[in-house]
Amino acid sequence: MTDILPHMIANEAVAGASAREGTVFDPATGEVARRVPFANAAEVDKAVAAARVAFPGWAATPPVQRARVMFRFRDLVERHLDELAALITAEHGKVLSDAKGSVQRGLEVVEFACGIPHLLKGEYTEDVGRAIDSYSMRQPLGVSAGIGPFNFPAMVPMWMFPVSIACGNCFILKPSEKVPSTANRLAGLLAEAGLPAGVFNVVHGNAEAVDAILRHPGIDSVSFVGSTPVAEHIYATASAAGKRVQALGGAKNHLVVMPDAPVEEAANGLMGAAFGSAGERCMAVSVAVAVGKAGDALIGALKPRVEALKIGPGADPESEMGPLVTAAHRDRVANYIDIGVREGAELVVDGRGFSLQGYEGGFFLGGSLFDRVTPEMRIWREEIFGPVLSVVRVPDFESAVKLVNAHEYGNGAAIFTRDGDAAREFGARIAAGMVGVNVPIPVPMAFHSFGGWKRSVFGAHYMHGMDGVRFFTRLKTVTARWPEGVRSPDYVMPVMR
Ligand code: NAD
Repeated sequence: MTDILPHMIANEAVAGASAREGTVFDPATGEVARRVPFANAAEVDKAVAAARVAFPGWAATPPVQRARVMFRFRDLVERHLDELAALITAEHGKVLSDAKGSVQRGLEVVEFACGIPHLLKGEYTEDVGRAIDSYSMRQPLGVSAGIGPFNFPAMVPMWMFPVSIACGNCFILKPSEKVPSTANRLAGLLAEAGLPAGVFNVVHGNAEAVDAILRHPGIDSVSFVGSTPVAEHIYATASAAGKRVQALGGAKNHLVVMPDAPVEEAANGLMGAAFGSAGERCMAVSVAVAVGKAGDALIGALKPRVEALKIGPGADPESEMGPLVTAAHRDRVANYIDIGVREGAELVVDGRGFSLQGYEGGFFLGGSLFDRVTPEMRIWREEIFGPVLSVVRVPDFESAVKLVNAHEYGNGAAIFTRDGDAAREFGARIAAGMVGVNVPIPVPMAFHSFGGWKRSVFGAHYMHGMDGVRFFTRLKTVTARWPEGVRSPDYVMPVMR
């Protein structure tokens, strides 16, 4: 019998009360690692009640003191970085160095949130009218909920909760049921950092828990990161329930290789961007757009690299790429390779059938490379979310821009070139939220904001940076006057004369 994780409510481990539960695997071996409770509406309600009790005290805690908790949390995450990375690798499968990097990116949001006294400073105008002053302030919303995807068990929740909490909100995290343990460990570290009970809570579950969150009247905002169909559902349902929503969805990121780009550099950039984390990144590059004569050279440089990928358990320091998260996801990705072949794309490297001695039960798939992919094919139109790189050949820069902009997703896009004019034009015209110039994965730092365009995002706010602060606060503007004597009623719209 494997262990079952608890929920974390008000700094306490709380056993699941519903009979429903899920299975968490070790993707490297395929064995069941533990079980995770699936919360029902009553359990979600318990977490919301704890958060609502904590909210008035936490909101009234001066930002400087809230920041001090963040500083302590920051130190604790840094001290426990290896442990957190190991937890991520154990449940997600990605290699340890990559898992560590993802925690580091989350930590940078905590560092950003440590500056909350400065970030919450309002504006003040003396004499908006004669002897009338105006000042604005940002106040917390109340209780925020965050719903995470499987691919970043620490980083994506850390895009959300440090900013929310630092702004004075209480937070309920519903992590992906495929990778639930990291959230509980983060809850433990927040408690150790001195965060009062009820300010951060973890409720495990699947769609039933999510739907209870979306409709709960005690929740004021919902932050979501996951696939586009679910993001759309989250946005529509939670908005209709009167909540503020930010919902980030799927992606199909293109990297345009211009004929003047050094091919070795482009190929190396593509390898990390396409096969790092087994392609299970929302900023993974899944399409290389080879412009003009770049095509043959690029395929020539990529083929041996994809064939030489070192695939193994994420915990093995020699591995460059680990297994996929579940057997079902591995089979789904492999099915896309079948589809690509049927559609007439040229399969240059076939990752199907990969097997590793001693890890035959693991959810492994080799790296795959397709050439001569076209926009009619499903393997171009749909997000595969696995170690499959498609090369589309186009004649010129204009066709490359047209291709990228024709896609329904617009998360990230990059160009490799030595031509400043092309790079500038690309940055200006490409319909994506995050653009790289000779940078294959242009993920903005914590003090900028993360988000895509088109069907990669629903809602007006991006994650972290100043957009995060705006999302997790309400703006209030006070107009004040201290009159002497009594004024007579004024029935006209007040204006400056
Ligand atoms: P997913 O949409 O299947 O699940 C995300 C979350 O939603 C999970 O917590 C899950 O429990 C919940 N969920 C799933 N189905 C639901 C339903 N029908 N109703 C309510 N809740 C539901 O996504 P995933 O497979 O965990 O993650 C991979 C996806 O996330 C990819 O599409 C990837 O591009 C995307 N992603 C996007 C970003 C970004 O920043 N845009 C970042 C990371 C991942």
